[in-house]
Amino acid sequence: MDTILFLKPSEGKVMKAVKLSEPNGTVTVQEVEKPQPSAGEVLIKVEASGLCYTDVHICDGDWAVLDEQIKRDLTLGHEAIGIVEAVGPGVSDFVVGDRVAAPFLRSSCGKCKKCRTGHENHCSQATALGMSHDGSHADFVVALADYIVAVPDGIAPAQAAPLVCAGMTVYGAMRDAGVGVGTNVGVIGVGGQGLYAIQLGKVMGAKTYAMDLDAAKTELAMELGADGAFIISDDTDIAAIAYLELDFVIVTAPSDAAHQLALAIVAFGGTISLCAVPAGETPLSMPIAIFKGITFVSQGVATRQQLKELLALAADGHIKSHVEIRPLSAAPKAIEELRDRSIVGRVVFVPGLDQS
Ligand SMILES: [Zn+2]
Ligand SMILES: [Zn+2]
Repeated sequence: MDTILFLKPSEGKVMKAVKLSEPNGTVTVQEVEKPQPSAGEVLIKVEASGLCYTDVHICDGDWAVLDEQIKRDLTLGHEAIGIVEAVGPGVSDFVVGDRVAAPFLRSSCGKCKKCRTGHENHCSQATALGMSHDGSHADFVVALADYIVAVPDGIAPAQAAPLVCAGMTVYGAMRDAGVGVGTNVGVIGVGGQGLYAIQLGKVMGAKTYAMDLDAAKTELAMELGADGAFIISDDTDIAAIAYLELDFVIVTAPSDAAHQLALAIVAFGGTISLCAVPAGETPLSMPIAIFKGITFVSQGVATRQQLKELLALAADGHIKSHVEIRPLSAAPKAIEELRDRSIVGRVVFVPGLDQS
């Protein structure tokens, strides 16, 4: 990505925001007009905004199928924690001063079968923060009151931010799959999502096994309670991993090789959960999938209810986020580092750090 334009903050109705001109365009930090809430919306003063690999996909125009849904001159960011600064007409569930979480799912239709049965994350009419609408890598973000959740006491904003996409995606996947005592869980990729999967597996009573190309990440997974870890290379003994009889394999790395590994190691009759989104077509052996009796489940983030449950678990001290705090002005460089896979854990932007 290209130039970093960074202007000093000034008084009035302006704020700093991390802007993407268009898919495959430039990422800059700019001063923009501070948004105001319309009916049903809240204005949130951002305390922490997590950087997600989806930000990289959006910047790089990786998902041609979603191109028309990506706003031009977009403020990136969809893992927001902040304080309600103002409420628009008709908002009664939140008041000024509440700490809230605003996730990727900005809205759904509220009327389709999925929305009516509590699966709003699979609504075909969904809109998304930091993709179809301006997101949270900014001093302020506007969100719909019906799609944000209260953040319980006992969890710091920077710790909570990555739960709002990375954490809730794997939590939703594991809950929906019924992971529990007696389940053997393989976690492919132990970056932001994968480290949560390791901790959540422990909370749910499952055994977890971490796999990554990077030894630093597998070591961290072991520290967080993984029952075993494998550094993946051309020499990896795939049969030894398959011997573990992994009922549930969660793929958090968006590469073809990660998905092919999942199919090779998952137990017969097992489930592969697709939590990362590859850029293009991924060749997989359908005969192997069919003969093994595999179920593939794709995970579209998670529901508001699941986010509430996860925040409660974190507030009780069960889930820790491995975060690195950076100012908004560091966003263009951080996006490059995430693209290069040189970040362990999760980067969280904290607005206001630039002003000192
Ligand atoms: Zn719907
Ligand atoms: Zn995300």
